[in-house]
Amino acid sequence: MRTILTKTLIATAALCSPLALHVAQAQQMGPTPGGAPQPQLEAAPAPSPQMGPEAPAAKQTECPGNPNPLGVSRVVEIDTTGGPGFGFQHYKSYDFLNPKEVVLTFDDGPLPNRTTAVLAALNAECTKAIFFSVGKVAAGYPEILRDVAKAGHTVGAHTMLHKDLSKMPFEEAKSEIEKSFSVIHRAVGGPSAPFFRFPFLRHSPETLKYLADRNVAVFSTDIDSFDFKGGKPAALVKRIMASLQKHGKGIILMHDIQPHTAAALPELLKQLKAGGYKVVQMTAKAPIQTLPEYDELVQKDMQGMPTALSDRPMNSVVKTISGQ
Ligand SMILES: [Zn+2]
Repeated sequence: MRTILTKTLIATAALCSPLALHVAQAQQMGPTPGGAPQPQLEAAPAPSPQMGPEAPAAKQTECPGNPNPLGVSRVVEIDTTGGPGFGFQHYKSYDFLNPKEVVLTFDDGPLPNRTTAVLAALNAECTKAIFFSVGKVAAGYPEILRDVAKAGHTVGAHTMLHKDLSKMPFEEAKSEIEKSFSVIHRAVGGPSAPFFRFPFLRHSPETLKYLADRNVAVFSTDIDSFDFKGGKPAALVKRIMASLQKHGKGIILMHDIQPHTAAALPELLKQLKAGGYKVVQMTAKAPIQTLPEYDELVQKDMQGMPTALSDRPMNSVVKTISGQ
């Protein structure tokens, strides 16, 4: 418990969240997609009374340049054992959000000028999100994904090539899943979460079972922003806020590769704050354990491509000009 508490306090300080952390009980409402019966969600505990008002977390609630940030009201740690599912559009097992609580999620990145703009908007409000990254895109811009992770956001996977996994042979779908985890792990250069979202929110029973066996949490959505359809930033904000008003809370699905989403985000965060909504950050209890055979495969595929540990490919830094 001590470890979790310490981590919570660090998170609290870093995320500019209010002192009072709410403790929510995970409400198990049915089987998980993978059939695991046990509750998987561990709410971050409130600071113990003996910490007193002078505890370190109490002093570090500022957000640089923003006296009244949206912040993060609560950090929840997910035990992904058995592959719990989140997002009521598909998985109705865990109703863990309180009224007016939201989880911000962004799919399909990372891309320059898009993900980076989303990051800046989140940072300005000292709030946190989950990024479900596409492996092939992450392979091209590992430094952006590294920045996402370094900023304290949660990074999950969204397949290698963004294909509909429900329509392909299982072995191919498995490869799409595993390669994306391996590439993302390589891009981040550190731990990433065993969190996964299916492209087009379409799964097959086999892939769902596979993720359950791999202890990967599966995400759908409660509030689909439909931002992939384009439109003006103001219309997007209006649509999300209207949907939130109707549902009262939820996991919001957006795309960090959409320019109007990045443009809309500062206003959306402002309206969330004004509307009394609170952001919950979801983190993983343990990082994804990538499979060595897929690590090797992506290593071969990505020879010469940038990694999180170097800004330039090795062959552009170290070049043989004489001999073999
Ligand atoms: Zn997607």
